[in-house]
Amino acid sequence: MEELPQDSIQSQIIHKDKRDLVSRDNRETVGDITVKNPRMTCRSVDVFYGEKQAIKDISLDIGNHEVIAMIGPSGCGKSTFIRCLNRMNDTIDGCRITGEIKLDGIDIYDKNIDVVPLRAQVGMVFQKPNPFPKSIYDNIAYGPKIHGLAQNKAELDEIVETSLIKAGLWEEVKDLLEHPDTGLSGGQQQRLCIARTIAVGPEVILMDEPCSALDPIATAVIEDLIDELCEQYSIVIVTHSMQQASRVSQRTAYFHLGDLIEVGPTAQIFTRPKHQLTEDYITGRFG
Ligand code: ADP
Ligand code: MG
Repeated sequence: MEELPQDSIQSQIIHKDKRDLVSRDNRETVGDITVKNPRMTCRSVDVFYGEKQAIKDISLDIGNHEVIAMIGPSGCGKSTFIRCLNRMNDTIDGCRITGEIKLDGIDIYDKNIDVVPLRAQVGMVFQKPNPFPKSIYDNIAYGPKIHGLAQNKAELDEIVETSLIKAGLWEEVKDLLEHPDTGLSGGQQQRLCIARTIAVGPEVILMDEPCSALDPIATAVIEDLIDELCEQYSIVIVTHSMQQASRVSQRTAYFHLGDLIEVGPTAQIFTRPKHQLTEDYITGRFG
């Protein structure tokens, strides 16, 4: 019996190799949630918006210098989950989180944790580039100033330059640094936001669909950048593009209705998923 769509590359790969898939009813995570050198560890994380549970008992490690992609249908909890990693959900009224999340072994939900430095250590880049209505220089310098990372103007200049170099934007903007109207394209604005995140010395960078508002060329530039950045940072990227997940990430996590269904090496997830729900999604039957 022919069950899988003929036109899907993934389905053809899967079809060659009939495996016993974990049934749709089983919502326990399949695959290894741990890594050897975790930067962050999440255990039994639940998130509620009022009465509604958006994240259900999720456990997952974020590795050192890895790019991990979060995929799954709209509304499955990807953004909610990554917002737990730097306590961004704290800003949402009625949002409640239980479980444990550690960064380098330290509980980030401990009552003694100051969220301001935490959000520098675990930075975030959003779907829509959101530069401040200020010059390029001021966009980057703002964070290091409030975190007291520079003793003087020369040090601040240095941080601005290195952050822009790391974000692959320096050559394009070095003569426009002080101009009040940045006049940057969408892709350049997103790289400016990445530079701003880098400027405060993060360990982990969270990216929530960072390319959805960009054209294919700007997207390719950001994807190349992610490749370079993972040498220094751990990157968690939410994407609705499976092609993007397979291009940029080493591990992929598949979410479905608040459950973490499956996690594993990206190539395995896209060619030999172990869970029926993952297969449904990657073959285009769901989402
Ligand atoms: P995704 O990023 O995968 O599309 P979200 O994390 O945005 O999913 O949403 C997961 C679930 O939580 C959805 O049912 C969504 O409606 C709900 N949700 C998200 N943000 C809020 C919020 N601020 N208040 C109430 N419910 C929310
Ligand atoms: Mg989202």
